[in-house]
Amino acid sequence: MRIVITGASRGLGYELAVVAAKRGHHVIAGVRDKAAAEARYGKLDDSLRAQIAFVELDVTSDESIERLAAGLSESGSPVDALVNNAAILLGRDHDIESMSFNDLAESFETNLFGPIKMIQALLPMLRTASMPSIMNISSEAGAYAGVYAGDYPYGLSKSALTYLSEKLRKELEPQGFQVLAIHPGWMKTDMGGEQAPGDPAQTAEQLVGILERVRPLKVKQHGFVDSAGREMEI
Ligand code: NDP
Repeated sequence: MRIVITGASRGLGYELAVVAAKRGHHVIAGVRDKAAAEARYGKLDDSLRAQIAFVELDVTSDESIERLAAGLSESGSPVDALVNNAAILLGRDHDIESMSFNDLAESFETNLFGPIKMIQALLPMLRTASMPSIMNISSEAGAYAGVYAGDYPYGLSKSALTYLSEKLRKELEPQGFQVLAIHPGWMKTDMGGEQAPGDPAQTAEQLVGILERVRPLKVKQHGFVDSAGREMEI
């Protein structure tokens, strides 16, 4: 498979790229700082590194998304999977009165508009794959079930991403696409923090397994699932 991953410089995105490469897939790793990412990936074996191509990608930049899409289109090969993983978590500690509209706008730009623009730009290449997938990394922080006070910018943007993903599933599943919003669990990353129980490398194994569609995931009610493919409460 040829898999495009956004936010592949660190955290879950990095682990997804490594796991996918280990399983023989070709990875287009979207990173904002190519030199820093290459240094980080430089620790891997050459054979693994050969499976991973880095592209400079900021999901808030139309120009950078268009450049990526043009490069992929020129290559003529299908894109089998798009993983919208890049995200930011801003303004955690603010209540409704102190919430900043800048934080809200930035969160929507990155966590919702970024994935939408990526989907629009890559759909032509995804359509040429035999079993295309769009995986939107969302969060239970955007679910109505278990909703908690605060965290407005992140929660609202992820809630919208999960909803977007479901609408997209209705549109594209009849055309052979697998479209899922994923809650990856609380993981030890820069975003999740040291105290998180989850190992992003293990989560990445599960998610690449879902993309491979060896045992196709049959969801009953909606496509918002955890990393084991079980439907979340929405
Ligand atoms: P990290 O904060 O560790 O990494 C975020 C990644 O997103 C980095 O690669 C970062 O790149 C990239 N990124 C941020 N903004 C942009 C942008 N504008 N354009 C391109 N890339 C960008 O996050 P995690 O790995 O923990 O999270 C991965 C996904 O999982 C996210 O969608 C997150 O919301 C979700 N999630 C995480 C949980 C957790 O416990 N960690 C829990 C639930 C969901 P750079 O290095 O350049 O900053």
